[in-house]
Amino acid sequence: MSERIYNLSAGPAVLPEEVIRSSQEAMWNLSGTGIGVMEHSHRDKAFMAVIEKAESLCRKLAAIPADYDVLFLQGGASTQFFMVPMSFLGPDTTADYIVTGVWSQKAIAEAKRFGKVHVAGTSEEQSFSAIPAASAIRWSERPVYAHFTSNNTIFGTQWTNEPTPPDGVPLICDASSDIFSRPIDVPKYGLIYAGAQKNLGPSGVTLVIVRKDLVERGSSSLPTMLQYRTHAKEKSLYNTPPTFGIFVMAEVLAWIDRNGGLAAMEKQNQAKAKVIYDYLDRSSMFRTTAAAGSRSLMNICFRATTPELEDKFIAEAKKRGFSGLKGHRSVGGMRASVYNAFPPAGCDALVAFLSEFEKANG
Ligand SMILES: *Cc1c(COP(=O)(O)O)cnc(C)c1O
Repeated sequence: MSERIYNLSAGPAVLPEEVIRSSQEAMWNLSGTGIGVMEHSHRDKAFMAVIEKAESLCRKLAAIPADYDVLFLQGGASTQFFMVPMSFLGPDTTADYIVTGVWSQKAIAEAKRFGKVHVAGTSEEQSFSAIPAASAIRWSERPVYAHFTSNNTIFGTQWTNEPTPPDGVPLICDASSDIFSRPIDVPKYGLIYAGAQKNLGPSGVTLVIVRKDLVERGSSSLPTMLQYRTHAKEKSLYNTPPTFGIFVMAEVLAWIDRNGGLAAMEKQNQAKAKVIYDYLDRSSMFRTTAAAGSRSLMNICFRATTPELEDKFIAEAKKRGFSGLKGHRSVGGMRASVYNAFPPAGCDALVAFLSEFEKANG
C-alpha cells in the first residue's frame, strides 16, 4: 500500500506528515553534512545543534523557566514510575498518588518498593470513568511529592486543571499521553515526564522537565544512570542518547511552533474531539464511556450497543482506512486516539463512517 491511512492508534501514534518527510531527508543527510542523523556521533556539532534545538523549542513552547532542567532520557514513562520514588521517597516517608487508571496503578506499584504510598484520591469505584473531584482529594500529613496522571490513555479521561497539593509539596505528573497538547503551567510542577511516542515523536525518548532543586534533592547513592543530576549536569549527554528519537522530537516541536504553539494545539484538539463526542452524544448505537467533565481530548473511548456490533465496526473501519480503533484489551470497546498530529479531516471522516455504519446496522 502506498497511500497512508487514518491512524488512530494510542501509541506509538500518528506523526505530522511534514515531520516524516524531513526525517526521511535527515536520515540520508543531516543538515548538509553528508552523514545521516543516525550515523552522527552524539558529540559532534551537527547533533549538538539538534539536541539544543529540541531543548530550546521545549522551553519556548511551554514557557519553561530557567530553574528547570529539560532532559531527554530512555526507558519510557515506565522507568520514571520507579526513578521518581527511587530519587525522592524512602522507607520513612510518604508519597501521595491519585489513582485514575492503569498507568497510575503501575506508578504506585513501583513507589511501594521504596517507601510509603498514600492514595489521595481515586476513581476506581467508578471504573475510572471520571477524574476525582478536587473536594474528594485528601492529602497526607507531609508527602514528599504528589503524583497524578494528566490523561488516562486507556480510560479516555483527562484532568482539566491539575490538582493542587499542599504548599511546598512538589507536584509530579505523568503527562505521557497529553504532553504539549495544550498549554501547561510548568511552575506549578516539580517534575513532568512523558514517553515521546504519543504526542512528541517515536518511542525511545522520555522527556523529563524537572525543577533544579529537586534534581539536587534526589538520592545520590543510586546508580549513576538513575540519578537525574547525572543527566542534568551532562545535558542528557552522559551516555549515548537516543539521537534519532531526539531529532524527530525536535522536528515535531518545530511543527507545533509553526502551527501556533500549545494554545493553537489546544484549540484544534478541542474542535477535533468535539466533532466526535457530539456525534457519540447524538447516536443511539454508540456512547462514550467517560463521564461528562472528565472526557479526554486525546483518547475518545466509546462502546456500541453489543459486542458483536463493536467487532463488526472495528473490522469494517479497518477496511475503510481507519486503523487502531480497538479499545485497550483491559476495557474492550473502541478508542479513537486523536493526538496533535491527527488531522481534523480524519475526525470528520470518522464521524461520517460512524453515521453510515449506524444507519446500515441500526
Ligand atoms: C503509554 C503510557 C505510559 C507507558 O509509557 P512507556 O513509555 O511505554 O513506558 C505511561 N503512562 C501513560 C499515561 C501512558 O499513556
